[in-house]
Amino acid sequence: MYDLSDINTIKSILKKNGFSFSKALGQNFIIDSEVCPMMAEAAIPDAGFGVLEIGPGIGVLTAQLAQRAERVVAVELDDRLPPILNETLKGFDNVKIVSGDVLKLDLKELIEKEFSGMKVVICANLPYYITSPVIMKLLEENLPVEAIVVMVQKEAADRLCAEVGTRDAGAVTVAVNYYAQAEKLFFVGRDSFLPAPKVDSEVIKLSLRADREGDIGDEAKFFTMVKTAFTKRRKTIMNSLCFGPASKETLGATLDDLGIPRTARIEELTMKNLTDIYNRIFA
Ligand code: SAM
Repeated sequence: MYDLSDINTIKSILKKNGFSFSKALGQNFIIDSEVCPMMAEAAIPDAGFGVLEIGPGIGVLTAQLAQRAERVVAVELDDRLPPILNETLKGFDNVKIVSGDVLKLDLKELIEKEFSGMKVVICANLPYYITSPVIMKLLEENLPVEAIVVMVQKEAADRLCAEVGTRDAGAVTVAVNYYAQAEKLFFVGRDSFLPAPKVDSEVIKLSLRADREGDIGDEAKFFTMVKTAFTKRRKTIMNSLCFGPASKETLGATLDDLGIPRTARIEELTMKNLTDIYNRIFA
């Protein structure tokens, strides 16, 4: 079996297959032997779990997941990688590679088909160019998964794990907080990758909530309100929330009634403030 975190092994596999990294696909492969075992340990509660991986690369994390889980299904967009993965993961009979774009696949259908009867987690060293859309998709599609353990750029981790109502919060923070409990697990420096990116990373865990704040019914509509308001995050909410059904009069009266200062900014509102405003005006 290959030591897939050994830089010389990786280089020789890549060379043998004439593989060159694609910057456009966010290809920075892990070469630190400690990172993937730690991610796999954090993601997989017990050996009965199924794991959906996004972007296996040459399989360094996949191998660690396969050692600890019942079954691993890994979605890879780059068609040059499955033949390499067939070689690097040939000792494992519980891994399946699915070719495709994670943003386009029907993940609910995939999970139901591939992990029937199993509890499922998602684990990935995400391609950073699509961090937010991938995380939003994983959350908004209400997938039958227990947790999402992913490596993201450090700055993205700060935003994803920020508290709603603080300066670090963005629209994605509100979504994460609504669907999950977010925590930072550990820091990973840029030197842990080949090629080394210009930024450091952090592994985070999103534990999906069984109970969610407020009864917001149409989640897509709620998040449209949140995303629209965050495009004017430096303005007061009398300005940033004044669109669609929210006229100045309705908005002002609702804020007064809810005891929310008209001069507040969207980033200062709590989850309850946001769901209250939504339910009163936008629902
Ligand atoms: N898991 C490997 C590791 O940790 O060394 C590779 C991680 S690399 C940061 C991201 C991987 O995601 C690459 O293999 C890349 O080809 C793949 N990828 C990029 N965009 C993708 C997409 N839209 N859907 C699925 N995989 C994608």
